[in-house]
Amino acid sequence: MNMNGCRFAASIALVLCMVVPGAALADEFSTCLTRLRGDALKRGVSAATFDAHAARLQPDLSVLALLDAQPEFVTPIWDYLSTLVDEERVSDGQAMLERWNAVLRQIEARYGVDPATVVAIWGVESDYGRSLGKRPLLVSLVTLSCMGRRQAFFRDEFLTLLTLIDDGHVKPERLTGSWAGAFGQTQFMPSAYMRVAVDFDGDGRRDLVDSAPDALASTANFMREGGWDSGAPWGYEVKLPAGFDVSLAGRRKKRSLATWAARGLSLADGSPLPTVGPDSGLLLPAGAAGAAFLVGRNFDVVCGYNPAESYALAIVHLADRLRGGKAFVAPWPTDDPGLSRAERREVQQALINRGYDIGAVDGAIGERTREAIKAEQVALGLTVDGRAGRKLLTVLRGR
Ligand code: CA
Repeated sequence: MNMNGCRFAASIALVLCMVVPGAALADEFSTCLTRLRGDALKRGVSAATFDAHAARLQPDLSVLALLDAQPEFVTPIWDYLSTLVDEERVSDGQAMLERWNAVLRQIEARYGVDPATVVAIWGVESDYGRSLGKRPLLVSLVTLSCMGRRQAFFRDEFLTLLTLIDDGHVKPERLTGSWAGAFGQTQFMPSAYMRVAVDFDGDGRRDLVDSAPDALASTANFMREGGWDSGAPWGYEVKLPAGFDVSLAGRRKKRSLATWAARGLSLADGSPLPTVGPDSGLLLPAGAAGAAFLVGRNFDVVCGYNPAESYALAIVHLADRLRGGKAFVAPWPTDDPGLSRAERREVQQALINRGYDIGAVDGAIGERTREAIKAEQVALGLTVDGRAGRKLLTVLRGR
């Protein structure tokens, strides 16, 4: 590692660069790489594969900063859902359901997971295969294998990825992904890929990067493995009675629907809860004042894909919307709702028109967009929080 590498690194890595001289860091990395080569060969990876794709890798210290980054603020559930489940993703998903209908029906027959659920995961994970992540996967994983606080975990992922390359399932030149090593159209970690990915298009390769049928079937296989019950609903939006004891809430505190009905819960439109359905936990993503949900075992299976309950709620809601379902009945407890990706792009364009340098209009609110929003909020006399919400958009539209 030379000091050029340090120059691009974020704060935590800068500290590392200052404490450990560049030459020592380079030595340590090179020793680590040699050890990884031995481990790879022991696992049956060919020397040719390692030497072609791993032997000359250089670490990327910016990945370490991401490993230790604390989220700047917790995204409100209404911001999270408004981009993941917007009109664009619903209509794109419905087009995908039509386009891949035959394949999705075969997948449902084999794995017992319905088309809308599989397509919803695809839509959230990679925008239906369009957004696979831009970071070079081998670089990220080799960095995390040799530096930082979870080396053993990432070493296993790195070596597993080399095995996948060696076996010809993935093309090394197509390997980009998230900084943490998830990749492909359904953003699997290499270990999950190794365990559950399937070759559904029959070309002999389990290719979740370039084959939509492989990616969709592998997602269904993941859900099946997690215990998906094809006959069961994920849950229901519900209404709480006045004075409800919110200490009863919690995804894992499951009770029968009859018990919940006896506690005064109804469906969100006021009609009674079904009499037959899975034992369910009560989810209150925004506390007692926002939308409430009873969620069953299938919701837990979605959490197996990503443990955030907000993620699982986005998936099951998008799946409902793909089937023609409506938006949630209860409003979120805010006077400044979240924006769709189209509306976020509109905010970004308005900022550019006002002379802010925020890079390309992409609908993703990154650091530069946030800083520009703050500056504009100061100028407009709004609350300065760097958030792209409905109030900001309304003011920008009027000017
Ligand atoms: Ca295949």
